[in-house]
Amino acid sequence: MRILEGKSLSAEILGSLIPRVKAVKAGLGRPPSLAIINYFGDSPSAVYVKRKIAACEALGIEVKLFNPAAADGYTAFKNLLSRLGADAACDAIMLERPLPDGFETLETWDALPAAKDVDGLSSLNMGRLFISTKFPEIAAGGFFAPCTALAVIRLMKFHGIDPAGKIIAVAGRSAIVGKPLAQMLTMLNATVTLCHTKTPDLPGIFKRSDVVISAAGKPRWIKKEMLQASAAVIDVGTNFDETGKMCGDADFEDIKGSIYAATPVPGGVGPVTLACLLEASVAAAETRARSTSGGLSSAEKK
Ligand code: NAP
Repeated sequence: MRILEGKSLSAEILGSLIPRVKAVKAGLGRPPSLAIINYFGDSPSAVYVKRKIAACEALGIEVKLFNPAAADGYTAFKNLLSRLGADAACDAIMLERPLPDGFETLETWDALPAAKDVDGLSSLNMGRLFISTKFPEIAAGGFFAPCTALAVIRLMKFHGIDPAGKIIAVAGRSAIVGKPLAQMLTMLNATVTLCHTKTPDLPGIFKRSDVVISAAGKPRWIKKEMLQASAAVIDVGTNFDETGKMCGDADFEDIKGSIYAATPVPGGVGPVTLACLLEASVAAAETRARSTSGGLSSAEKK
């Protein structure tokens, strides 16, 4: 079975950011700046936050970490978003999920300024994604798309798996992964079945699919019997089993001798998602630099 690892692509993307960070520093007189809001310091997201901070530091991107308490309430959260939205020294905002109960509302997504919304959750960015008909519009259209969905597409392309003409099943219909991913795959001429907990005959749908992408968050639930021999599995799931070990939605040991290709967990979609986030943060800073008098010179970009 081919292992569709994500570390090489992640390194490639991060490497391409080095001159761009330098150019932003020259243009703005400061590095690109990413604000991360993480409510639950003891949740698995804290692990990813640490990785994001380390990757930003390695590239010279400034990170401001906010760890508010759920007890502070929704108004404090909205005020924080407004403050960061208005702060000229903040280029990018990343909201770590989960958010406290009741915080994931349309009002929240509307409160995220689109130009800083590097995970593409704001109504404006999401609307633009769903209005777009061609994938290159994401790069050229000046808007941000959810990093995990984008990472899946980039990882597939990196490993030569072209969505065009493929029958693809996506498990999970969240606004941050499943739905935007189904939209991107459709733009790329795949035929997509978006599955969820109420989908009838999910194993039958999987069995008929060339590519199965899982963002269900259920440890090791995908078994070889559910897949055709020529299938590729892209595993977005990031779970921790009963021993605390990180694992995906697919039972990697079970499927590894029986299908064409699969992403590992860890080391698959995760590192590419992180790289896409940093890339979007640098792009947000570049936009700000271009709109200031100094701007970005083409020489500095090289
Ligand atoms: P979420 O909001 O909890 O959504 C989970 C989705 O999966 C829901 O739509 C749910 O269906 C569906 N689902 C659950 N069990 C299912 C089953 N047995 N069959 C089919 N569908 C099922 O989760 P999320 O935020 O999208 O994240 C999903 C997973 O991706 C998590 O493990 C998360 O940690 C991981 N993740 C990884 C990355 C990365 O970079 N690798 C980034 C983000 C998230 P219903 O709608 O019917 O409930």
